[in-house]
Amino acid sequence: MTTTAPVLELRGVTKTYRVKQGLFGTPRPLTAVNDVSLTVPRGEVLGLVGESGCGKSTLAKILLGLENPTSGQVLVDGQEIGAQDRMTLARRIQPIFQDPYSSLNPRKSIFDIVSLPLRVHGIGDAASWDKEVRKILDIVGLPARVMNTFPSQMSGGQRQRVAIARALIMKPEIVICDEPTSALDVSVQSQILNLLGDLRREFGLTYLFISHDLAVVEHLATRVAVMYLGRIVEEAEVGGLFDHARHPYTQALLKSVLTPEPGLGVPDTQLGMAYPNPIDPPSGCHFHPRCPRATDFCKKEAPRALPTPLGHVECHLHDPQSPMFIGKEG
Ligand code: SF4
Ligand code: MG
Repeated sequence: MTTTAPVLELRGVTKTYRVKQGLFGTPRPLTAVNDVSLTVPRGEVLGLVGESGCGKSTLAKILLGLENPTSGQVLVDGQEIGAQDRMTLARRIQPIFQDPYSSLNPRKSIFDIVSLPLRVHGIGDAASWDKEVRKILDIVGLPARVMNTFPSQMSGGQRQRVAIARALIMKPEIVICDEPTSALDVSVQSQILNLLGDLRREFGLTYLFISHDLAVVEHLATRVAVMYLGRIVEEAEVGGLFDHARHPYTQALLKSVLTPEPGLGVPDTQLGMAYPNPIDPPSGCHFHPRCPRATDFCKKEAPRALPTPLGHVECHLHDPQSPMFIGKEG
């Protein structure tokens, strides 16, 4: 385990929206992120895993300063991000988004796209932009001649390399990767994951790596946080999580990863049932309608966050004070 101070820290972060259902509906609260506390030590990769709608992207927006939390704090190097100006924040945290097809402006050349952060922030001049763009393109494995081409002339993998170059040209400390490989072919996915791993080692970057796919996260992450309806239901070191998942939801996610042909080989897993509507979360433990271990107790009582040797878990099965406690395990 590392003893480095956290470069990124979330303390009890909650984000609630008021959502109107239908044209004449009364607005109702939707808690997208529910009291999340996480720390990411410098140089580590925290994988954030969960299904679509669990709150992962809202969390990413909060970290990028694009949304303010309703309550709680986000700290970078011990300083609240609200207190940092946009320039400082951009130098520290940069995003890489899911879909390089839509996140790159089709009318701009690769040079314009990659140099934009420098130009927006008034860093350097025309000569230095040219030098910096050449350097960063080389680092992400693209030849300098692509500078004068356009996104439409590139493959999906090349476009994601451009997006990575654009993020890294600001020399950030933290990169928020939101599903960075989900739109790519499997063979290209692993090239991009390898590139992200190499860049982390070379530049000492810290990643928050968001994905719905536990297999992708395993490739890169040192720690994993599993998110369900806005809560982190389990957090552990990556090896520990894969060898000994404690939460039934993590176990179900792992089962679907280990099945060679997802959708075919997993008859009636509990995850086959639709994801709950976050505006109307299930009572007690939010996971109970899909949980194979659920009892009436789970429908009534929400589980507490319980410390595990290298993280935490929220499930009555692991709570010594619950009637469902299964006993201490390793
Ligand atoms: Fe399943 Fe109950 Fe644990 Fe929730 S608290 S994950 S419903 S066993
Ligand atoms: Mg998302």
